[in-house]
Amino acid sequence: MTDLPSHSRAAAQAGGAAEPSDLAQDVGAAGPATAQATVGAGRSESGFSLLPAFDGHHPPDRELIDDCVHCGFCLPTCPTYLLFGEEMDSPRGRIHLMTQALEGEAMNSTMVRHFDLCLGCLACVTACPSGVQYEKLIEATRQQVERRHQRTRADRLFRELIYRLFPYPRRLRLMTLPLKLYQRAGVQRAVQRSGVLQRLPERLRSMEELMPPIPARGNPVPAWTPAAGAQRARVGVLLGCVQRTFFSHVNAATVRVLAAEGCGVAAPPGQGCCGALSLHAGREAEGMAFARGAIDSFEAAQVDAVIVNVAGCGSAMKEYGHLLRDDPQYAERARRFSAKVRDASEFLQEIGPQAERHPLPVTVVYHDACHLQHGQGITRQPRATLQQIPELTLREVPRERDICCGSAGTYNLLEPEAGRELGDRKAHNVLAADAQLLVTANPGCHLQIQASLRRLGRNLPAAHVMEVVDASIRGASTETLGS
Ligand code: SF4
Ligand code: SF4
Repeated sequence: MTDLPSHSRAAAQAGGAAEPSDLAQDVGAAGPATAQATVGAGRSESGFSLLPAFDGHHPPDRELIDDCVHCGFCLPTCPTYLLFGEEMDSPRGRIHLMTQALEGEAMNSTMVRHFDLCLGCLACVTACPSGVQYEKLIEATRQQVERRHQRTRADRLFRELIYRLFPYPRRLRLMTLPLKLYQRAGVQRAVQRSGVLQRLPERLRSMEELMPPIPARGNPVPAWTPAAGAQRARVGVLLGCVQRTFFSHVNAATVRVLAAEGCGVAAPPGQGCCGALSLHAGREAEGMAFARGAIDSFEAAQVDAVIVNVAGCGSAMKEYGHLLRDDPQYAERARRFSAKVRDASEFLQEIGPQAERHPLPVTVVYHDACHLQHGQGITRQPRATLQQIPELTLREVPRERDICCGSAGTYNLLEPEAGRELGDRKAHNVLAADAQLLVTANPGCHLQIQASLRRLGRNLPAAHVMEVVDASIRGASTETLGS
């Protein structure tokens, strides 16, 4: 392990890694050479701090914190530890900060910086041999930060822009016309060539880089789609916010696949955001309101299962029972609702294939979205779903499969420097699979890796798992896949 810097070497040994190739690798813009210091460590994020850091409303649970035995097994899988090599940017370090805060420490800007930099990717949960429920700890911590920490005005405004726009499909739709003009009328290319973008603040530059291609027309999903043949199940499908606006073709493909597999599919027209983005950011009240709305919509549709094709949304919806545990009107309904939530590939594997799959002679590399593999423990089902397609060759990302691509909800917008480094690192690793198509199950990962590929001057089309299955069932050609 002599090629690794000391922090990565220590992490490797703590994690039981045998070879440097198990860990931080010299790929892309990221890697040991950049692992120097916490990005933005000197940045002022604080107007004032409160003493003590946490209030009495669901602070991180002391018993969950005490499950951590400080073994360090989680360190090699933590993206921010790989980037910055700083103990306080590791899961163990952040748990230590939570302990200090519980013991009365003030919520200072340095502490907030280390919490903000956590991607919430949950790789540490998968790696932890002691079963530490870090997802509950960081969620409770973020809520405390949002309640008790005064961010700078610029930071507050940027966050308000994101959280008052992205979870609202109607507002997003209003944005599509000017964005379409920007992308189609040659303005985008002219702006990119002019160098103006380099002078923009990092966060705005990141927004431009990650802007999805605006589809020429939407693919609205009907409120009810009957099953092809005898109905095996009655399911509901979450349309999402960003997904519905920019990836409506993925929703349409998902509904076609479900119907072909014998499901009647309800898409309740009144459904809104599932709340994942808000919950990820510690905006508790907002996230709870969205969760109640989703429960109301799908209860009315009387479905056997709620199918989700966005990893982050599914992960949040499976936790509604915990989120609404104090709400007498919703606690039991939320538990029942969460028990019905299924990722699309998880559900397809549960019911088994019925529709004929036509050959798709294509080599694909499958990228695990963190909120599927770490958040929901779903790794086998998407691979099995792809492998049921004749003539499709499935390849793995050869290195750092467990490491986040840096998308993580809105992380790549809020933390563009770290997001870009992780994205470029993932893009290099994806390219090493030498595939013709990148397949994933999360629009955030799709956009993030595509942006990194563009930065690297490389091109690799990308598609959702459900688009690939849909193409196979319809007998469409490989060339129709990928954007
Ligand atoms: S979170 Fe788990 S893996 Fe990490 S130090 Fe604590 S006990 Fe060990
Ligand atoms: S959630 Fe991800 S970034 Fe945060 S501590 Fe765990 S592994 Fe690190």
